[in-house]
Amino acid sequence: MTKYDVTVIGAGPGGYVAAIRCAQLGLKTAIIEKYSTLGGTCLNVGCIPSKALLDSSHHYHDATKHFEKHGIGVEGLSLNFEQMIARKGEVVDQTTSGIDYLMSKNNIDRYEGVGSFFDTTHINIAKPDGSVEKIESAKTIIATGSKPSTLPFISLDKKRVITSTEALTLKEVPKHLIVIGGGVIGLELGQVYARLGAEVSVIEYMPKIVPGMDAMLSKELQKSLKKQGLKFFVGHKVTSVTNTGDEVVVTADDKKGNPVEFKGDYSLISVGRRPYTDGLGLNNIGIVTTERGQIETNEHLQTNIPNIYAIGDVVKGAMLAHKAEEEGTMVAEFIAGEKPHINYNLIPGVVYTWPEVAAVGKTEEQLKEEGVNYKVGSFPMRALGRARASMDIDGQVKVLADATTDEILGVHMIGARAADMIAEAVVAMEFRASAEDVSRMSHAHPTYTEAIKEACLAATDDRALHV
Ligand code: FAD
Repeated sequence: MTKYDVTVIGAGPGGYVAAIRCAQLGLKTAIIEKYSTLGGTCLNVGCIPSKALLDSSHHYHDATKHFEKHGIGVEGLSLNFEQMIARKGEVVDQTTSGIDYLMSKNNIDRYEGVGSFFDTTHINIAKPDGSVEKIESAKTIIATGSKPSTLPFISLDKKRVITSTEALTLKEVPKHLIVIGGGVIGLELGQVYARLGAEVSVIEYMPKIVPGMDAMLSKELQKSLKKQGLKFFVGHKVTSVTNTGDEVVVTADDKKGNPVEFKGDYSLISVGRRPYTDGLGLNNIGIVTTERGQIETNEHLQTNIPNIYAIGDVVKGAMLAHKAEEEGTMVAEFIAGEKPHINYNLIPGVVYTWPEVAAVGKTEEQLKEEGVNYKVGSFPMRALGRARASMDIDGQVKVLADATTDEILGVHMIGARAADMIAEAVVAMEFRASAEDVSRMSHAHPTYTEAIKEACLAATDDRALHV
């Protein structure tokens, strides 16, 4: 029987990063993945394919709506949706095969099959050919991720009532896509299809979209997406979703409790994801899970069985690829005897719509709730020369700083390239910068990052220069 120092179950961004870091630290490492491709949800049916479609549809949208204004005539423009989906597939293939390379480069043994605990140091691998191989591992990292969840009364037929996975491989552009759930995934995919010509209706139970984010972001994003043609029904409680053959009928109660009905050809159910532990054999060794199905861990991401750890979407916290990656690195280093640490407050959250939305640290709502005395500095994108030059004037940057010490406590931005710009806020906050610190640093002109500097100036005695 082959013996390992560490075995990782699940090869998503949490698992493969954990395996690489373990190998870098000199540990004999194996990784078990049930699918034939590595990369997990993120690379196969999540972050990467959704961004590929967002980019393709963005080009199409620009060509149809904005090129003329730039003086570019486009005659005979057409949409080849099949090619768009095929290109997305190529991007996924390149990215997942890159992980194969990383596994072999780092001498990590890869097993294809479903891993399950035989006991606390032995794992059975049920392989696609029906055989079972048992390996021994001193330590195991569970990184089995998550799956789309649904509401108890909705049956996902995956034909017309679909999850994000099917929405990434449709054969046609929907005529009317009914998105249930106004969170990140629903909005990103909703925008893809709206740009390609679908009518898109977003139904959200809470009174605002992207409910966990700062209220300014929800409001600005909804305003912007509405201008682009998406329809929003917030405060609506969905009561049924029925596939009638060639159509989907969704019923809901509106804000006042009156019944309303929506008819479309597809309904995307994007109401969240559930931690995935099916088939792992957790009961065989008594690993404790929470009532939401997450594996319970301590601050070192150690389960109740001390030689078994869990990371990523399968444990508590934000369901984000970069959070899973940080946890993979942390656990590998902890196992190797180091003393790593993650600042969970500084894991940024991003929505890759256009305008992009990005945030880190506390929201205004959280600061109010915690009774923190804070001050606000905001700066509108439209006041930037860079934004006007590229006709991307929607959005703003908002900086929240401690009223006494001026330390930056939260940064919330919506606008072009916010997903990349948020890194500046993360660095500043990691080094506990004050708003004045950032406001005194030179930001290249003309760039969108000037909005961060200006918002910091606004937070420092209302000193913004360009409004
Ligand atoms: P996963 O990526 O889910 O990987 C778990 C792996 O474990 C899977 O490959 C699974 O097959 C395998 N597995 C499960 N059980 C077993 C078993 N018993 N034996 C062997 N293998 C097993 N996050 C971002 O940060 N940015 C984004 O832009 C973003 N976009 C997204 C878009 C969509 C449409 C979706 C659905 C998700 C998106 N996410 C995004 C979330 C991101 O994909 C997840 O947070 C991330 O993949 C979690 O990583 P993980 O390693 O914990 O698990």
